[in-house]
Amino acid sequence: MPSEQHTNIKVAVRVRPYNVRELEQKQRSIIKVMDRSALLFDPDEEDDEFFFQGAKQPYRDITKRMNKKLTMEFDRVFDIDNSNQDLFEECTAPLVDAVLNGYNCSVFVYGATGAGKTFTMLGSEAHPGLTYLTMQDLFDKIQAQSDVRKFDVGVSYLEVYNEHVMNLLTKSGPLKLREDNNGVVVSGLCLTPIYSAEELLRMLMLGNSHRTQHPTDANAESSRSHAIFQVHIRITERKTDTKRTVKLSMIDLAGSERAASTKGIGVRFKEGASINKSLLALGNCINKLADGLKHIPYRDSNLTRILKDSLGGNCRTLMVANVSMSSLTYEDTYNTLKYASRAKKI
Ligand code: ADP
Ligand code: MG
Repeated sequence: MPSEQHTNIKVAVRVRPYNVRELEQKQRSIIKVMDRSALLFDPDEEDDEFFFQGAKQPYRDITKRMNKKLTMEFDRVFDIDNSNQDLFEECTAPLVDAVLNGYNCSVFVYGATGAGKTFTMLGSEAHPGLTYLTMQDLFDKIQAQSDVRKFDVGVSYLEVYNEHVMNLLTKSGPLKLREDNNGVVVSGLCLTPIYSAEELLRMLMLGNSHRTQHPTDANAESSRSHAIFQVHIRITERKTDTKRTVKLSMIDLAGSERAASTKGIGVRFKEGASINKSLLALGNCINKLADGLKHIPYRDSNLTRILKDSLGGNCRTLMVANVSMSSLTYEDTYNTLKYASRAKKI
């Protein structure tokens, strides 16, 4: 990824392949990947033929507004044929080196429900996601340094749902947050020691099955919680016995679609409201960090409180914005790209 940026925030966009429903409806493509770092959002119809290999659009809506034809630049744009391995190699392998050099790092996947966040972060047994690939690399690098340094590795997997903090590994909570001199502490959270990436993958899958999910009209699989995986590493230099602790956080954010677009009432509505609150707070913090401002409103949500020591300052942050290129998801894709480009704006 280009390194000319002044901040430590990188933004990548990942376009996922069409799903069965999108293919069946033969919608037009609203994203054209131009090169490694640019895409064209909402291209003109004639540009479409590249994607449809000659297939004509089923209909043309003459009441439709003009195409936006927005060229947008990011640190990196991953197209439908890029794998989790590609994202790992280019985006998170460098973070493993940063972590071992003492920087707290965080990786976010952002996007509407169904856009590919969990596929990117967690993946499946057949296509392990960034968390597994990154942890595997971390263990390899730890092994290679074990002559000179001793490492203690513990992980936590938390969920922020409706501003409640739950432990996904033990399925317990809500846990309270409190502030001490070292920052924000999650009360009653024990770190789980781990020794291999394989062990971790099983734990992640288990934890993920504990995530709060509710079927809604918009999407039966919709996930309204933020999942925060954190690996805490205590590094002891064998020669001097000096110790320091670093953290790598990987966050599968709740779906970014608007609460208004799901027919939520009552409990669902409250969920929607606090999801927006956390995502909004995260966006505000990242924008302010990118702008180099001093006051960062971490306190505005539990998500940003937990991540306070992993954003800004000496930290490295990667945001992966997940989108679909089907016109069925026009609004979601547009909103996600806008959010991502605001995070990138310096
Ligand atoms: P989200 O977590 O954002 O709601 P998911 O990661 O669950 O979305 O993705 C929705 C569906 O699309 C899943 O069935 C997933 O396997 C599939 N999918 C997402 N991204 C990709 C990709 N890059 N390649 C192949 N399938 C994908
Ligand atoms: Mg998901």
